[in-house]
Amino acid sequence: SSGSGSGSSGSSSASGGVRPVAGGRVSSCIAGGGSGGSGALWALRPGRWAVLLSLLAACMLGTWRAMGAARGAGGMQAGVVDRLQARGSITSARVADAMRQVDRKLFINPAEASLTHAYQDRPLPIGNDQTISAPHMHATCLEQLQAYLTPGARALDVGSGSGYLTAAMALMVGPTGSVLGIESDLELATRSVDSIRASVPQLGGASPHGGGDAAVPGGSAEHAAAPSSPPATPDQPPLYPGGGPRARRGTAVGAGWAPAGSSATQLGEGTNWRVVHGNALSDVLSNEPPFDAIHVGAAADTLPTELLDALARNGRMIIPVGGRWQLQTLEVV
Ligand code: SAH
Repeated sequence: SSGSGSGSSGSSSASGGVRPVAGGRVSSCIAGGGSGGSGALWALRPGRWAVLLSLLAACMLGTWRAMGAARGAGGMQAGVVDRLQARGSITSARVADAMRQVDRKLFINPAEASLTHAYQDRPLPIGNDQTISAPHMHATCLEQLQAYLTPGARALDVGSGSGYLTAAMALMVGPTGSVLGIESDLELATRSVDSIRASVPQLGGASPHGGGDAAVPGGSAEHAAAPSSPPATPDQPPLYPGGGPRARRGTAVGAGWAPAGSSATQLGEGTNWRVVHGNALSDVLSNEPPFDAIHVGAAADTLPTELLDALARNGRMIIPVGGRWQLQTLEVV
């Protein structure tokens, strides 16, 4: 029951095949501007040069404005998806549709990375030595899971980090489905709730977060105050941050975060999603009904039994496996 995926989420070169926005307009404008006939440019008199140059400038200005307009209403995010489709990273229309709707910029922490990099195909730091994965990695994971992220399905996002995939999966499973995001870093988890709310307002979640004692729907986890500091001795296999070379420099997290026994704090929820602060390798998941689709955003040395046990019999999990300093393989279970 295993397969292989792409390598670790580190590599993230931007694709070629960039589809120029309003490119056709540029050329037609230039053609129009040069309507002086068949004479070669060098034959034009100085006055005509000036006319030609102003026409060219007007064309460029118009194109720039058109690009700006396109960038506006989600155009930049749509451009990311277009490029991923052009290079074959996205083939599913449902994945494309979900990723178009979830604007990556809303998941970037401006204190950690420039917002101008939000639409580049590379991981970006989001704080506490963690990263938001590159768009092609999000796309790959959603593609691998898309047949299981059907309306009404139950999905789990382990190491939900920025919350990007929690939001995208919530769109894919629809209002009758559900997505649980589990993140061991309180700061990131808290921030992710705001990002998810902002990106998919149609999926609710308008209530203010911060109610750390909120009940976890489904009665799945006991609730306790967030641990103030990680225990010193982890007794479970660690999960390492995925998301690329930068992420691998981060501290090992996972087992070290949760005290023995379940400790999960719900930080926010919407119509069909919730984000919990806790350690996915504690017994947080033990009372959860099985999940049809599990995405794991942090690497493990071996497949964690806690996550295998949480997977429905006919479900699918995608997880980076490999040591912290080794080549990691994206495995499909
Ligand atoms: N895919 C996410 C983030 C990946 S980084 C995104 O694109 O935004 C991996 C995340 O896993 C980190 O935020 C880290 O804090 C979290 N993590 C690591 N071990 C964990 C564990 N045992 N339980 C829950 N989260 C964990």
